[in-house]
Amino acid sequence: MRIIIHRGTQEIGGSCVEVSTDKTKILIDFGIPLVTATKEPFDSKVLTGKSIEDLKKLKILPDVKGIYKGEQKEIDALLVSHSHPDHYGLLNYIHPEIPVYLSQGAKELIEISNIFTPNKIKRLNAKVINTKKSFTIGGLTITPYVVDHSAFDALAFLIEGESKRLFYSGDFRGHGRKSILFKQMLRNPPKDIDCLLMEGTSLGRGEKLCRDENMVQKRIQEILKEGGNITFLFVSSQNIDRIVSAYKACLTTNSIFIIDVYTAYILERLKKISRNIPQFDWRNIRVKFYDNHYKVITNKESLKTIYLYRKSKIDFNEINSSGRKVLMMGRDNLIFPKVLRRINNPKGAKIIYSEGCSKLGFLKNR
Ligand SMILES: [Zn+2]
Repeated sequence: MRIIIHRGTQEIGGSCVEVSTDKTKILIDFGIPLVTATKEPFDSKVLTGKSIEDLKKLKILPDVKGIYKGEQKEIDALLVSHSHPDHYGLLNYIHPEIPVYLSQGAKELIEISNIFTPNKIKRLNAKVINTKKSFTIGGLTITPYVVDHSAFDALAFLIEGESKRLFYSGDFRGHGRKSILFKQMLRNPPKDIDCLLMEGTSLGRGEKLCRDENMVQKRIQEILKEGGNITFLFVSSQNIDRIVSAYKACLTTNSIFIIDVYTAYILERLKKISRNIPQFDWRNIRVKFYDNHYKVITNKESLKTIYLYRKSKIDFNEINSSGRKVLMMGRDNLIFPKVLRRINNPKGAKIIYSEGCSKLGFLKNR
């Protein structure tokens, strides 16, 4: 078994690993870089109008033979560990006949991003992985492991071939709502591993206390009990664990949890994978419709689904006249100043924001 790490050893994200035997060649993850070669934040606008060759020269596309459109196909399959763009974001460039293996949750989230965000994957030759079973690709046997991560339904992979065993962790953590999976893996790790490829995002960050989701939920509860009529929550709509924490905090404090249409749609698409994911018609959940979501949806089916959320719809009049509430803003906080103008007497309102939602700097000027 041969392993080539094309990207991911010197930086966070942009992961891409090639694994091959004499008979079979696969790639694990095909992510968009988070930083440039000079460690500046990567701006995906750079991709616009550039050919595969241009992007290879710029080292944005890794130099993998036989993966790209227009080339002689040499890669048998691509495994995607989870639905974060730094692990799947270059899918548009791959040869259309290469199958892409991923979890049901990852597939749903990539398809939803296609509807609501500018990051569109034009064509996905998807093969959904049964996460309870091993499967083979040529001479390789792959065993998926569901792991705890902020991307829903994230996977690690055990890859066996030519009597060697490689374990690829993908992004994982021990402080989310599926932390039990992390504990189980520590108790009973895959045995006789020849090579471990592990994400190290937090290595070197010190021993700083990391709050788990139960602590986050309790803290949100405290904030809600402290008073204030409205609390704004900035969190990615795809961060299901965090949304569940916020929803539970709302139930405990009898607050209304107001989500947007994009979030409601994500939660609904994922209910076939887990029945514990809050839904638009559950107790204390209401849906705020913003124009910017409607404008981007062209697909009639999605519009029809979204129409159903009208029975939980809430408008600014009702928001202003109701009691304690959390208004979730997603990460698209550019509309926040507009929303704030519609809230009566926002003095004393609190803001809770999740890591990754760091664009709140504009508030300082208001
Ligand atoms: Zn990730």
